[in-house]
Amino acid sequence: MSRMNRSSDDDVLGLVASRQATTRAALARQTGLAPSTITGIVNRLLLNGLLEEGGDTASTGGRPGSILLPANSRERALVVELGAHRARFGLADRGGRVSHVNRFDIDIAEGPTTILRTLVERGEELAERSGTEISGYGIALPGPVDPQTGTVVGPSRMPGWNGCTVPEAMREWSELPVVVENDARIGASGESAYRRATSGAPSALGDYIYVKAGSGIGGAFVENGAPRRGAHGLAGDVTHVPVPAGGDRPCQCGNTGCLDTIASAESIRRELRAQGLALPSNDALIETALDGSAQVVTMIRSAGVNLGIALSHTVSFLAPDAVIIGGTLSAVDAFVGGVRQSLHERCLQSVMEHTAVEKSLAGTDSALWGLAEATSVFLNARGAHA
Ligand SMILES: [Zn+2]
Repeated sequence: MSRMNRSSDDDVLGLVASRQATTRAALARQTGLAPSTITGIVNRLLLNGLLEEGGDTASTGGRPGSILLPANSRERALVVELGAHRARFGLADRGGRVSHVNRFDIDIAEGPTTILRTLVERGEELAERSGTEISGYGIALPGPVDPQTGTVVGPSRMPGWNGCTVPEAMREWSELPVVVENDARIGASGESAYRRATSGAPSALGDYIYVKAGSGIGGAFVENGAPRRGAHGLAGDVTHVPVPAGGDRPCQCGNTGCLDTIASAESIRRELRAQGLALPSNDALIETALDGSAQVVTMIRSAGVNLGIALSHTVSFLAPDAVIIGGTLSAVDAFVGGVRQSLHERCLQSVMEHTAVEKSLAGTDSALWGLAEATSVFLNARGAHA
């Protein structure tokens, strides 16, 4: 590296550390160097681990507005997605990036006290192992969440959680900030966050419907970059839309014939069990499908077709740029193919010409990426005052 490079690098590091300039544009103004030169310097410092990239500035949106931070931060948010039987968790840095993803088995029916305590303990273990420090929590839940308060509202798959205000319940173990969201809604944001983080470009998804299809089926509509929450955070609950094939099957919500009764991973396993094929877990279901079992693939495809039926009115009404399919079932191409086929059969060609039906790129990590983006706000706020 030349002498000139080194002194420019030091200038940039000094301006960022003193917070006189924290974006590429501000650095170009302050140093008088060309924007392309600044980009080169910043990229080199990021690559050498001397700078970190924080969340985007609200005013500028895309990558050029990213906040730059000196890379001395050990602070991470613990991001956790709770499912019925499993928790998926990882660490999120100030730049909204996810690392150290792992999972552990839970039974959500054990209730908030046990589950939240376990989550805090796991976070502390992970921080110790990775030489980091937990500065806050992001939690995704498999049920409706009031985004104002973080209160669980009438969940059908979370016995013992109804009315629990999660940030308050967390205070028994930790005073740190807590973000709580519904898993499908934060997964929808996470899909964009993941695409931005991995491609370096603003997400090109436009307005889109995101569906998380796993043990249950949740969804969200993202408009102008923000998922619609609906009154009391209840938007997107596609799992209780009745479909003809659901017949009079009873649903956990009290109605009959909901999409949930035939298209969720659990109902597919129940149906297979009735046909004499017992699969012990959703993982086993997916593995059997990926091994090419025609019986299982056919049933998963049919679940996708039924999801398409449940979504078709919404797609016709909203004409989104894309329908993104995430969650466990999206690992099976036939599932996404079933949704696509069904939507093309039911919606106008003029709508479907402009609506891509795609598998999620963030896959089973999408909720963690969404939580990482949400928690980077308080990590950066702490960093700014450090
Ligand atoms: Zn239902």
